[in-house]
Amino acid sequence: MRRVTILGATGSIGQNTIDLIRRDPKAYEVVTLTGGGNIARLAADAIALGAELAVTAYEDRLPDLRAALAGSGVEAAAGAEAIREAAARPADWVMSAIVGAAGLAPGLAALEQGATLALANKESLVCAGELVLRTAAAHGARILPVDSEHSAIFQALVGEDMAAVERVIITASGGAFRDWPLERLRSATVEQASSHPNWDMGQRITIDSASMFNKAMEVIETKEFFGILPDQIEVLVHPESMIHALVGFVDGALMAHVGAPDMRHAIGYALNWPERRALPVDRLDLAKIGQLTFRAPDEARYPALRLAREVMQMGGLAGAVFTAAKERSLDHFIAGRIGFLDMAAVVEAVLDRYAAQRRNDEAAMTLDNVLLTDHLAREWADEAAAKKAG
Ligand code: NAD
Ligand code: MG
Repeated sequence: MRRVTILGATGSIGQNTIDLIRRDPKAYEVVTLTGGGNIARLAADAIALGAELAVTAYEDRLPDLRAALAGSGVEAAAGAEAIREAAARPADWVMSAIVGAAGLAPGLAALEQGATLALANKESLVCAGELVLRTAAAHGARILPVDSEHSAIFQALVGEDMAAVERVIITASGGAFRDWPLERLRSATVEQASSHPNWDMGQRITIDSASMFNKAMEVIETKEFFGILPDQIEVLVHPESMIHALVGFVDGALMAHVGAPDMRHAIGYALNWPERRALPVDRLDLAKIGQLTFRAPDEARYPALRLAREVMQMGGLAGAVFTAAKERSLDHFIAGRIGFLDMAAVVEAVLDRYAAQRRNDEAAMTLDNVLLTDHLAREWADEAAAKKAG
């Protein structure tokens, strides 16, 4: 029996993880599920899976969670610190599927107790990659990628020598607006940006796919996780989302990972690793699909990709500035205060301000410093967004 915890259990990744666990309930003992405002979902899943503990991120929802769990024997808790404590409860495997930089501290707590961390929360590698990897190494904990591109790279590298890797290519569907003329993007609405052509995901990552901020984060995630150079990472627009990533070797060979766009592939790979087990995903009929297409991303259309390169160049805490500014600009877009293209402009303004103020003796990458930087970058993003709005 493997003891598993799911952080962000009520979200898209969390629900797909629960779907896989439910298919083989005898293999798993569920320790903790955490969620946000969807108390009914959180409580129902915690009861159905026989979890020890359920935690909501919102302290004011604790009475609701208690009521929903009454008589079930499942403990209830609330708040960010309770989520961190829940992640620190002994478990063999922890799914990190909270959205945003809020996933960092609980992910670190899971690594500190030596659990294998299935990492969907790419933000933690973008905002504090060195800290996350250092924490894993210090506690002998393993991280398995869950982002589909990174799972694909990881699988293409099995049995290979990193020294033989020349480049890594991550694919991008191009998101909701890939065929829109640039001028039309200016007036793109939240609703239009929230519908993805191929993947069914949470709203925030879906909008980040339309703006390419998702891919921008994934480029940084690739650099951090696989320890390769920014110049070795390429982005390729591939509208069908069947090839998730390719690894190019020094002999010119390209190893591609091909599969249906279903996150249960990558989640299941991390859940079953190092074995492969049957997964309930579609098998591709390539003859029926007929052809796959590719094109280079247009950097004028997607400034996020250029900003990711700048962040990697800056290094240090620039990733924390980037994720925080991106999250706040996304909040402002969702709230209707700024336009779709303003998001990248806000992030760029915050990065420029950070670059101008950063001293040579930049603060070390500790959790406290990452959180302080995150906080400051959010304030700057609010100021930059207010200028755009006003
Ligand atoms: P989602 O919005 O569907 O779910 C997010 C989960 O996090 C929910 O359980 C929510 O309650 C919880 N949450 C939100 N804010 C929180 C906070 N401040 N504190 C604690 N919990 C909080 O998101 P998702 O699409 O499942 O994505 C989760 C993570 O996985 C993200 O980092 C995303 O980039 C990554 N990811 C998602 C997909 C996908 O297919 N959805 C693919 C690759 C990577
Ligand atoms: Mg991805």
